[in-house]
Amino acid sequence: MNDYLVRAMTTNKEVRALAVRSTKVVNQAHQSHQTTPVATAALGRTLTAGLLMGSMFKSGDEVTLRIEGNGPLGKIIAQGNQYGQVRGYVTNPQVKLMTNQKGKLDVAKGIGQGQLFVTKNMRLKEPYHGSIPLVSGEIGDDLTYYFTKSEQTPSSVGLGVLVDKDLSVKAAGGFIIQLMPDASEETIKQLEDNLATVTSVSSLIEEGMSPEGLLEKLLTGFDFRVLANKDVEYKCKCSQERMQDLIMSLGEEELREALDKEGQVEIKCHFCGETYSFGKEGIEELLSN
Ligand SMILES: [Zn+2]
Repeated sequence: MNDYLVRAMTTNKEVRALAVRSTKVVNQAHQSHQTTPVATAALGRTLTAGLLMGSMFKSGDEVTLRIEGNGPLGKIIAQGNQYGQVRGYVTNPQVKLMTNQKGKLDVAKGIGQGQLFVTKNMRLKEPYHGSIPLVSGEIGDDLTYYFTKSEQTPSSVGLGVLVDKDLSVKAAGGFIIQLMPDASEETIKQLEDNLATVTSVSSLIEEGMSPEGLLEKLLTGFDFRVLANKDVEYKCKCSQERMQDLIMSLGEEELREALDKEGQVEIKCHFCGETYSFGKEGIEELLSN
């Protein structure tokens, strides 16, 4: 089953909703970064949020989510765009399995106390920066708080990743529901009732529920129209050329030292794990430009 995202609006224009299946995207991240289950869940939820938030933009815009906690996972980054592409990484992908009292992966403990930062790079506007203290460390709840507090848009965010016994990703997905400014009390009440029926996004996706099915469940009692339906993927935008710029920022002295010691300079992309190597000739050429 392919990963895709749907964006919808209720016909009374009071509720905006997005849902995504991101199983393959998160599994790709797991493979690229060799994440342990708690890291897969934390990074996977953040990537899923990156897909959802990225799809709220116009073309060429990009959102970066950065979670900086004092837990063993370290920093978690996800970058998403309007084309359904996302990439990301976690500082410590090898954090050992942590489960909470319910026997579920303890993402909150892995993340710890800290801040969530959201940066929106928009082609036609100044970049937007928002941040909030982490309220739960489970990411979905933190983003719910972020939208309500920082963007003044009452929202509900659900994110889920289910890790299989062989450590691959069994199911992943998420949703964002947002109230438009003139939403009525009845609408709010109905949404609260609907949200109470969705306790685990990843279980619903594992059972085979599609993103449309998720929206039908979340928008029970409303007529809605699907405005967009698009495939999503894990995609890094690194290239030999982009890495050249990074290499050059190291400075001539450091580069020559590395060449003397190793015979080449290697640089690894944080986002996808791809290694780029530059030999003596390549470096000399770059330095002479
Ligand atoms: Zn890359």
